Amino acid sequence: MREGSYSWSTQSHTAFDTTIVLIDTDAGITGVGECCPLGPTYLPAYAHGVRAGISQLAPGLIGYDPTQLDLINAVMDTQLKGHPYVKSAIDMACWDLLGKAAGLPLYILLGGKLQEKVKLYKVVTRADPASMAERIPEYRDQGFKQFQVKVGEDPATDIIRIHRVAQEMEAGEVLNADANTGWKQHEALQVADAIADLGKQTGIHLTFEQPCLSYHECLAVRQHTDLPFVLDECIDSIGALLQGLHDHAMDMINLKISRFGGLTRARQARDLCVSLGLPMNVEDSWGGEITTAAIAHLAHSTPSAFQFQSSAFHEYATTQIATGAPVVDNGTMTASDAPGLGVEPILDALEPIAQFH
Ligand code: MG
Repeated sequence: MREGSYSWSTQSHTAFDTTIVLIDTDAGITGVGECCPLGPTYLPAYAHGVRAGISQLAPGLIGYDPTQLDLINAVMDTQLKGHPYVKSAIDMACWDLLGKAAGLPLYILLGGKLQEKVKLYKVVTRADPASMAERIPEYRDQGFKQFQVKVGEDPATDIIRIHRVAQEMEAGEVLNADANTGWKQHEALQVADAIADLGKQTGIHLTFEQPCLSYHECLAVRQHTDLPFVLDECIDSIGALLQGLHDHAMDMINLKISRFGGLTRARQARDLCVSLGLPMNVEDSWGGEITTAAIAHLAHSTPSAFQFQSSAFHEYATTQIATGAPVVDNGTMTASDAPGLGVEPILDALEPIAQFH
């Protein structure tokens, strides 16, 4: 981690273990995909699980046409029930192959370039309130106007964290208070009440994200606050998305590619959100240049009114794993126009662990 550590809710990590998939074809084209869980306790996903799952799936996929994405996903689903994150890196590599075979950047295949630049947020990692607040001018100088402020630890300190960060912010900027499931319901209600008027007082656009672990706790909190509400961790399927829409449980979701099982399923959710009027943070759990490229292509092909913000994860990393990553500039990123994801893995930066023929 460029900043030393990444802390959210009650968790803190100094590094993340990522898995890269390369798929070679008889056409001489290679596709690349990536899946990087945010440690083993963020979602039901972990780095060794990605590798174990790919070992389970890969032998049965040899011989299939990787450009037939729905077929590939159907084959994966008949070979392994669930475990969407395991399938994500394979699905992503197949999309890269489809783009390379077609000679088109993925944003074209995902619907077209609906926006030239992808809006980014910057994470303000959980720390003491004063150090978190100090980050804001520094990130603003880099061009960021949207800040995801990590809370979800001790609610009394979290209230101070949000107020201190808000003091450093300017009207019109976004303060996304993300608890990453960290509060109990009564704690979330206490925080929501303590910051209820902060947006009105400051002109900051305040959002409240995934306060509690379960959907039902989040829904109860949502029913007692007027804060714009984002659901993230519990939106893990189209079914969960439809349930949330039915219950008016959120104003926005966080769409994470690997949580849905890859670009194929994330695109389905994206299209559904656009049709139903629900804006999204288009992103993933974590990753390097390859994951960030996938995020950028999905976000480019999303109408700007529906892409609230995204994340350029490679900007947080100290190890570069590919060239051709989206270019980050002034709080936005822009994907490569090269075919597929537009990235080239740096093989020297990777450790080979398994090969399937
Ligand atoms: Mg979140």
